[in-house]
Amino acid sequence: MDKRVELLAPAGDLEKLKMAVLYGADAVYLAGKQFGLRTASDNFSIEEMKEGVSFAHEHGKKAYLTMNIIAHNDSMDQVAPFLEEACDTGIDGIIVSDPGIFQVVRELRPGIPIHISTQTSTTNYRTVEFWHRLGAKRIILARELSLEEIREIRRKVPDAELEIFVHGAMCISYSGRCLLSNYMAGRDANQGDCAHPCRWRYYLMEEKRPGQYFPIEEDAAGTFVFNSRDLCLLPYLPEIISSGVTSLKIEGRVKSSFYVATVVKAYREAIDAFYEGNFGDTGPWMDEVGKVSNRAFTTGFLFGKPGPEAHNYETSSYIRRYDFAGLVTGYDEASGRLIVEQRNNFKAGDTVEILPPKGPFTELTLRELYDEEGNRIDSAPHPQMKVLLAGVPLFPANSIIRRKSAKEDG
Ligand code: SF4
Repeated sequence: MDKRVELLAPAGDLEKLKMAVLYGADAVYLAGKQFGLRTASDNFSIEEMKEGVSFAHEHGKKAYLTMNIIAHNDSMDQVAPFLEEACDTGIDGIIVSDPGIFQVVRELRPGIPIHISTQTSTTNYRTVEFWHRLGAKRIILARELSLEEIREIRRKVPDAELEIFVHGAMCISYSGRCLLSNYMAGRDANQGDCAHPCRWRYYLMEEKRPGQYFPIEEDAAGTFVFNSRDLCLLPYLPEIISSGVTSLKIEGRVKSSFYVATVVKAYREAIDAFYEGNFGDTGPWMDEVGKVSNRAFTTGFLFGKPGPEAHNYETSSYIRRYDFAGLVTGYDEASGRLIVEQRNNFKAGDTVEILPPKGPFTELTLRELYDEEGNRIDSAPHPQMKVLLAGVPLFPANSIIRRKSAKEDG
């Protein structure tokens, strides 16, 4: 196995991009202000894109740009100018799903690698071959494929780069090709604005009995009939990497930098362990990915069509065992105190875990907190306030301070 698999992470904004890179991603994917699904994430201006791409390159990593909306006529005039500006930032590849946008990229920038988005629902080797012959470098396969199907595609189209999703939210439709959100909320999933109505709670009402709601139950457990669990394929990385795929993608450009850093780090360590021949107990990595928001986990389609176990019938809320309390931004040499930017309220006496970009986390209890003027304080209540921590070991900048969320305490 000469070339190692790529770990590809979501970058919803500049901070998330930097955290993904620092915590171990080989590449990131991001969207500009136009043409990328996920309008809920902040996305990148051209200036930010330049900064993000430079940051990735300085660390020896790649950055890909998503332009994967299903475009209507009125978008097409803006594609070329946006593409020119975006390509000038040094971006390493463009992710597209719309053949019209594919064609514009080929004509305007024939040298830039094109990745075919999962939005095209590529589920067989002939389709992979089709896109590859047209000039696509990489095909991001549909989530709805089994490991056996992926292996077969790899065997039959050995030259195309293949990317698969290994972690994150699942759609109940084929990778977002769905009009439910347009219909229920006037928000277009294919333009990156899904309101997730598939996860709402539904009842049945007979027309002559207004106001009488009958529960819809797939089984006795509940009514969230379309509420898929999140994908997590970490325990199966050896089989997946051995199938010969090129890139392993983590979903979640709207997720927090806390989420991105935690999930990327767990997968980084697991992938490295695989190549070092140490892929053993996955418990600690699974514990890590369970600390950030998730809807409980499923292996999706990896071992065939999923059954009821892939659904969460009880709640459509996220499970999150830990909160992002703060981010280490530096170290005050004069006082020997760690400088932290607050992200969620924390106080003296709290037991926290500090997770550095490399190496294990450390659990400790916060004893002494100071504000920027050097006054001792009991807590850090204000968003993004600077807090200095005394009596804690030195941790590198960008280490994450996390605390068990209130629901988990006690
Ligand atoms: S409504 Fe649900 S299934 Fe449809 S695109 Fe949104 S998340 Fe996917």
